[in-house]
Amino acid sequence: MLSTALRRLSAPICSLILVLTAWFTFFGAPGRGPGAYSTLAFAAPASPPLAPAVAPVLYPASPSQGDTLFVVSRAPGELRCAWDGRSIPVMVSGGVQMATIGIGVDERTGAHTLTFKTISADGTVRSESRTVTVRRTAWPVQYLKMKRSTERLYTFPGAKAEDAAVTTATRTFSPATLWQGPFLLPTNGRRSTPFGVKRIRNGRKPYYHRGVDLAAPTGTPVVAPNAGKVALARVFKKYGKTVVLDHGLGVTTLYLHMSALAVREGETVQRGQLIGKVGMEGVATGPHLHWSLYVHGNSVSPLFWTRLPASVTGGVRT
Ligand SMILES: [Zn+2]
Repeated sequence: MLSTALRRLSAPICSLILVLTAWFTFFGAPGRGPGAYSTLAFAAPASPPLAPAVAPVLYPASPSQGDTLFVVSRAPGELRCAWDGRSIPVMVSGGVQMATIGIGVDERTGAHTLTFKTISADGTVRSESRTVTVRRTAWPVQYLKMKRSTERLYTFPGAKAEDAAVTTATRTFSPATLWQGPFLLPTNGRRSTPFGVKRIRNGRKPYYHRGVDLAAPTGTPVVAPNAGKVALARVFKKYGKTVVLDHGLGVTTLYLHMSALAVREGETVQRGQLIGKVGMEGVATGPHLHWSLYVHGNSVSPLFWTRLPASVTGGVRT
């Protein structure tokens, strides 16, 4: 613990000594002649100078369940990244290297290990491990009463095939990143059910609501919150008209219960482009859009992606 703290402190202290040394050498200490503090020079290495810091920046530093952890590096050298030993793909865009880690609703709280390696052009490898603490989110509980006839749509014979098609589409992985800047809200609506609510339907086993419900009148436009490719656009019995967008590098979004589709599978969409209309098709108790966001197949809060700071989105461009 102490040695880690000392190691963390040593870089800023060295930098401070360097700055002070430079200041006193060139300008002199206040009230004294130039060079009065030249004995401090022993603290600074003569040559070569200290290499610039290469450690990537984490956002947020201590994520909560449902967040997405961004690892952003603006330093030269190829970045490789692993979360609890599992390799995470790194995107390169506009001089920025970035990896995204989806912290699921039921991700283990407490200490996780994030490992990065930076490989310089001359083959030098720098490795670093950091402990990232995942904080608990107090998910609210919702008791849902549903008509038996509506509930039967969850288990009708084709339900499993529809679920499988949605799951496969949300796990799409494309090596190019298509999204740029913070995500838009796909429709104007009241947030009727938040992300992560623990639902107990008709007294059954609880399950997490892995998306946000935006309640709006039938026919309200639904737009692509960011650029992407249509991975799925189909009419399902359980979910109504359904769209999955692939935003690249393991980031996908899902839209359920729509009354109209405005896109076809394989089509490229721009940020703000119409993709469908709000409805209440499939298992729904009123007109709303169910919106989910997945990071490498992990469902995370989509609203988190509408509030990304420029430090994360700044360098992302196609
Ligand atoms: Zn929903």
